[in-house]
Amino acid sequence: MKLLVTNDDGVFAPGIIALASFLAKRGDECTVVAPDRERSSVGHAITLTRPLRIWKVPSGPYPVNCTVYACDGTPSDSVLLALDEVIPEPDLVLSGINRGPNLGDDLTYSGTVSAAMEALILGRSSIALSLNCRENEPEHYYETAASVAVALLDFVRMFPLSEGVLLNVNVPNLPLAMLKGIKVTHKGVRLYEGKVTRLKDPAGRQYFWISGKPEDQLVEGSDVWAVANGFVSVTPVHMDMTHFPSLTTLEAAGAEKINFK
Ligand code: MN
Repeated sequence: MKLLVTNDDGVFAPGIIALASFLAKRGDECTVVAPDRERSSVGHAITLTRPLRIWKVPSGPYPVNCTVYACDGTPSDSVLLALDEVIPEPDLVLSGINRGPNLGDDLTYSGTVSAAMEALILGRSSIALSLNCRENEPEHYYETAASVAVALLDFVRMFPLSEGVLLNVNVPNLPLAMLKGIKVTHKGVRLYEGKVTRLKDPAGRQYFWISGKPEDQLVEGSDVWAVANGFVSVTPVHMDMTHFPSLTTLEAAGAEKINFK
């Protein structure tokens, strides 16, 4: 397959290297176009106010048959430029493997998932891949997630994704043999306890740090539930944010008859 690979952790992050290595090993034609630095949680931002550049980088830790480009923009910039300038007709766009999960409402903050969304908007099929690891865990099993990615690729080759639908895949941070299987899930609810921390700088001025401890609502069938139970979570995601039932209820409530003159 002809694949475009991107991420939001930066072009030399371990996750994207593991993914490209697994793909190249099995003979896929792999072009990497990814941000030149970490751009996690930039969401779907694109850069409109300064010049953008992409340049070929020495493949370094990548297999020799991967072509690797860095981009000084966001993940979505990388996809935009890659599809315009580098690889216009990939069979699939892969984003990841992200360092850390993209579960519940992480989706809207995630540069990883947004890169896949950008591909979708531009009419290409895409998959976002994330490893459910935490910074302080001793082992990050990117190879596990790469093995899952390769198997999923074979699957979507047989059963192409519906038009306008991407897969958001989250893999437990476990050795491959310990995964329980795959669950097709819906987006769950993950809230962050203590999202804003108040601190003081050395001059005594207040500043803030956004982080927080994730609190999941472990509803069966959701993405957070699947990963918490040792399953790979595969969530089909589409971009239409319209809430269709409200079309009827808002109109019936008289929203179109509000008097504003
Ligand atoms: Mn990231």
